[in-house]
Amino acid sequence: MTAPDTPRTLHGIGVSPGLAAGPVALMGDAPSLPVERPAVTNQSAEADAAVAALTVTAEQLERRAATTAIPGAAEVLEATAMIARDPSLHDPIRSATAGGLPAAWAVDRAVDEFRALLLDLGGYMAERVGDLDDVRDRTIARLLGKPMPGVPERDTPFILVADDLAPADTVTLDAERVLALVTARGGPTSHTAILARSLGLPAVVACPGATSIGEGELVEVDGATGQVRVGVSADEAAEANRQEAGRRAARASSRGPGRTSDGHPVALLLNIGDEAGAASVAAVDAEGVGLFRTEFLYLDRKDAPSVDEQVALYTSVFEAMGDRRIVVRTLDAGADKPLPFLDQKGEPNPALGVRGLRIARRAPQVLTDQLAALARAQQATGAVVWVMAPMVSTAAEAQWFADLARAEGLPMAGAMVEVPAASLRAADLLEHVDFLSIGTNDLAQYTMAADRMSGDLADLLDPWQPALLDLVRMTAEAGAAAGKPVGVCGEAAASPTLAPVLVGLGITSLSMSASAVADVREALATVTLAECRDLALRALGEGGDGS
Ligand code: PEP
Ligand code: MG
Repeated sequence: MTAPDTPRTLHGIGVSPGLAAGPVALMGDAPSLPVERPAVTNQSAEADAAVAALTVTAEQLERRAATTAIPGAAEVLEATAMIARDPSLHDPIRSATAGGLPAAWAVDRAVDEFRALLLDLGGYMAERVGDLDDVRDRTIARLLGKPMPGVPERDTPFILVADDLAPADTVTLDAERVLALVTARGGPTSHTAILARSLGLPAVVACPGATSIGEGELVEVDGATGQVRVGVSADEAAEANRQEAGRRAARASSRGPGRTSDGHPVALLLNIGDEAGAASVAAVDAEGVGLFRTEFLYLDRKDAPSVDEQVALYTSVFEAMGDRRIVVRTLDAGADKPLPFLDQKGEPNPALGVRGLRIARRAPQVLTDQLAALARAQQATGAVVWVMAPMVSTAAEAQWFADLARAEGLPMAGAMVEVPAASLRAADLLEHVDFLSIGTNDLAQYTMAADRMSGDLADLLDPWQPALLDLVRMTAEAGAAAGKPVGVCGEAAASPTLAPVLVGLGITSLSMSASAVADVREALATVTLAECRDLALRALGEGGDGS
């Protein structure tokens, strides 16, 4: 007999604020075949079971393809379903069962053979190997009665618990169904955390013990404190969700431009990754978009989007902006955000490798196509479009990018400051670009030599680290001297306690997820600019006026 569970609390790092409670759905691992292989009594029944399971896999993928609203996802799902229906996979399964293998083992063998064939063919066919493995895992899980691998599909809302989530998993999450995320691993500024924030999902990462929570257990997740209460009652869960709905309603009524209490303007902008994000600009009354992460549109794309396709997407995002500005970052692929079509393989240390703007050294056409598409969408909509490059390290890179952007007819060209070298030589960069935007997530990672994916190093990645704030100040001062804006678009900008400090350091705009705007707006409205400057000095360990 088991005693009734009393709630126990797990502790992780809260990376996306909000409270949510509900039943847990565990992210399934790829199934492995049991060591003991059962004997087969009816070979043709095994073959029929294997093909029937493949057909159900195909049907499920097709249903998801028909209902997904995620750009590019339908074609990936349809292509995967086609593999499950391919007779050249069914025939070897029948041969394998005729040779005495049970259904799941026959699927495994046939997939192995099919994989070798695709790899031999190379090119596009070889790229389908990932889809083939997906078909294998789903079909074998079904045959063995194991949980489906990947993000679970449920008809009712749930809390998603996983060991870790790839950005490509997070990007396909259905925010209607997923109430909150909890992962055992992951860091505070990982892209999974950022995506959770942009979806407005409470999220806790680096939470040891998370994967030992039972399927269906009721949990309450506090994405601000990082606490996960396991085994709460249905009443407690309902109360937590009621409280959160009340808080969301209060935040929704916050309006107006960012200002300190004595009227110093600080533009409050949004970080977005798609059209849905663009729509929230008006909803939270932000002054525009400070970071449009264009790579988020293409995380699960196997081939490069055409210029026309990009124009259509950017046009619909720009149309949502009205006369508010939008700062578009060109593709920032690499490290924890690989884009399959850019073929970035085999780097021993990808965070220090060919990522961000550096990819354009190898594949300049990808950048010039994107700039051309952005320019066409800008002309079609008349939107106020600024463009900026990720991972700029030198003035020469800044100049190269700005020249390319202007040649396409995009007058406002900027650089992200994510590498200490760019901060140290910000004045040189500003000779070529019109603005700078500090990416504190990467700037912290490179300043502190601490992987942003690592929950264990969260203290080093803390944006209050004075070394990071020194670089912010240095960059802001270079901007003031050049008379050019310097914003922050890393996650530091979303902190209501840090925002006044950043303003005191000279930052002119703060860009964050929609869910953070109301709290940051309120925090700024309670301090004067002089108080912000004082807070900044204290944060740097340089005292203050003592008031
Ligand atoms: C950053 O590094 O702070 C940033 C805004 O870019 P990303 O998080 O997308 O790398
Ligand atoms: Mg970055």
